Amino acid sequence: MKPTIIIAIDGPAGAGKSTVAKTLAKKLGFLHIDTGAMYRAITLAALRQKADLNNQAKLEQLANESKIELKPSEPENKVFLNGEDVSKEIRTPEVTQASAFIANCVPVRKILVARQQQMGQVDSGPFGGAVLEGRDIATDVFPDAQYKFYLDASVEMRAKRRLKDLEKAGVPSTLDQVMADVKARDDRDMNRPVGGLRKTSDSIVMDHSQLTVEQSAEELYKFIRQHPR
Ligand code: C5P
Repeated sequence: MKPTIIIAIDGPAGAGKSTVAKTLAKKLGFLHIDTGAMYRAITLAALRQKADLNNQAKLEQLANESKIELKPSEPENKVFLNGEDVSKEIRTPEVTQASAFIANCVPVRKILVARQQQMGQVDSGPFGGAVLEGRDIATDVFPDAQYKFYLDASVEMRAKRRLKDLEKAGVPSTLDQVMADVKARDDRDMNRPVGGLRKTSDSIVMDHSQLTVEQSAEELYKFIRQHPR
């Protein structure tokens, strides 16, 4: 039996990974797995329960008890937590901020990584493979992925995109403020003791500061077509 094709897309916040992964998965007929949404869903569960975000045993219990489903949908995929559509709630600045605690919690990472590995095994389903996006896909979740992309973009470009999203969502901010946030998130993502953002020696690094997310998805698609594995 041919192994499932896994496409790993890692990179910093705001590099356009989600839209690129969604577009690419659609073009290829693959399943799209937004792993950040899973960390966000556990964060939401913890905030709702007013859990102590430093209590690792409590966070582990929450992760074990939480059923997270990612459902393909247009224009955005949907995220369900214990059967409830939480697609919007998981994107609030409060959840973004608190998600760092969940991402730092080693027992939670173990649970989510195992679920992501299971979700990626799509060989008996309708999908030809899976596109997973996050921070640790090529390093921890699927170190044997056939394609490993590291999607980068400058802090300024990422901040500009973030600012646009915030404006759309009616959250007022400034470019300076968003740039400071982006830098702080990079620092947290890269310096986490476990599951931190890193390029692997075999990652294909793409800096798409000058491309739209659609063009960026097209570049990855072309690369995959030109390099069958
Ligand atoms: O990518 P996104 O902003 O949705 O990620 C939400 C949170 O989950 C962030 O704190 C990010 O660092 C974390 N994360 C992670 N590992 C992943 C994906 C996201 O620790 N594979």
